[in-house]
Amino acid sequence: MAYVIADGCTKDTACVDVCPVDCIHPRKEEPNFESEARLYINPVDCIDCGACVPVCPVTIIFALDDLPPESAQFAPINADWYAKKV
Ligand code: SF4
Repeated sequence: MAYVIADGCTKDTACVDVCPVDCIHPRKEEPNFESEARLYINPVDCIDCGACVPVCPVTIIFALDDLPPESAQFAPINADWYAKKV
């Protein structure tokens, strides 16, 4: 299981700063930060610590099991962003 960034990400990056395994990208210093509309969680590297959840200013980070049905598509949207980079 991994955490998922759902709809409405504002690229605040508070989640990036607290993630202990650096699995939320793009980071501000990465070249694709400006062009990306949102941030993504790498489901392979996420250790399910939950640290990103309370710091999200728009409360749209969910554990996969808690992902609202209307946001189900965001699980593959997060995962696919990393898959296409390999
Ligand atoms: Fe990173 Fe923990 Fe959030 Fe996973 S749950 S994205 S490891 S801060």
